[in-house]
Amino acid sequence: MFSSKLAAYADVAGAEVIDHLHQLARSLPGVRVVHVNSTRVGGGVAEILEQLVPMKRELGIDASWEVIEGNAAFFHVTKSFHNGLQGNAVEVTAADLQAYEQTNRDNVERLAPMLKDADIVIIHDPQPAALLNLIPKRRGKWIWRCHIDVSRPHRAVWKYLRPIVAPYDASIFSLAAFAQSLPHPQYLIPPSIDPLSAKNCELAPADVEAVREEFGIDPAVPMALQVSRYDWFKDPIGVIRACRLARRYVPLQLVLAGGGATDDPESEAVLDAVRKEAGDDPDIHVLVLPADAHHTINALQRAADIVLQKSTREGFGLTVTEAMWKGKPVIGGDTGGIVLQVIDYHTGFRVSTPEGAAFRMRYLLTHPEQLDTMGLKARRFVHDHFLLTRHLREYLTLMVGLVHGSEERIELG
Ligand code: UDP
Repeated sequence: MFSSKLAAYADVAGAEVIDHLHQLARSLPGVRVVHVNSTRVGGGVAEILEQLVPMKRELGIDASWEVIEGNAAFFHVTKSFHNGLQGNAVEVTAADLQAYEQTNRDNVERLAPMLKDADIVIIHDPQPAALLNLIPKRRGKWIWRCHIDVSRPHRAVWKYLRPIVAPYDASIFSLAAFAQSLPHPQYLIPPSIDPLSAKNCELAPADVEAVREEFGIDPAVPMALQVSRYDWFKDPIGVIRACRLARRYVPLQLVLAGGGATDDPESEAVLDAVRKEAGDDPDIHVLVLPADAHHTINALQRAADIVLQKSTREGFGLTVTEAMWKGKPVIGGDTGGIVLQVIDYHTGFRVSTPEGAAFRMRYLLTHPEQLDTMGLKARRFVHDHFLLTRHLREYLTLMVGLVHGSEERIELG
């Protein structure tokens, strides 16, 4: 018998999928897993952990989620790491590195009791990565889970971080192009969305209408949407330019919906630039939403005719998956994890320039039957590849391998 929550997932993903999760979880009795990242709200990692950790618990695994605490200097350097890993030529000073290492040290006393005794510790991204070397008598296996597009890292940043992550027992990347030269096994596990969360659950048409009304979005004019933190890599300025180009040929309004993440110090500057570019254009809606506006984002994604994610670098792009699940074709930057999801001409289009994005928007808005067909394929593709249940299965399989790794054979119960 499934719990009512798991039964609800069985309805979406299939009962056999849930059976399989139970089978894997039975091989992990009493196993204690701790995830550590750098923020509870904002951005894809928090979004994933908010769903993944309770589901592991639902399956009987002792999973918990801890957050490293830092000051402005720490988040400044970790954002530089992020930008550097995604290929920007950032400058990181000795004082920055000192702030990074000191913050990791400052967190040890609070986190050590949980981390020392855990069977598996999963450290997300570079922010808490230095904890490993600060906890000498650790018992379990430590995994570095990198969510960033590290296909072409700035050398100086990777040179500093590589010795920090090399001693981990394994690492996880979202796609093969991100794998690095490291002395431990590397696993490829793309992220996922929770189809039953407030962000992705079905909504009544009246709920969608209400959100449209709340933000003054004209229901008679086609709507393009990009949901993103205000971050240069998401190219919000390019999105505005693309919409202005497309608007020469088709009626169109643009909604940019975003907020900050508590670990992202750059969002104010990006938002200022976006507002300046948008000016007083009545057909460009720049929204700043609170971190828990899941229902609003769900409704906006459903209200949109086309969803854009014109990133210039992207680890995965949960916003792409979310929109596809709602039956929207996505026009996405031809980069990183978007490539896994946007199958050109099938589930959307991949583009590299504002002109390319404008061209594809114009095409979709003048070929409504194609727009619908691609939207249906997009939803199916997410169903088959990017739901939480697949993500859990891969995590549990990896955990079974790590926990039972030295045994001659592993029997799944
Ligand atoms: N998101 C949100 N509010 C915002 C902007 C983004 O809730 O104002 C969510 C978005 O719906 C998605 C996640 O944050 O679930 C962003 O994940 P993604 O992988 O797209 O990008 P990241 O922020 O991790 O680079």
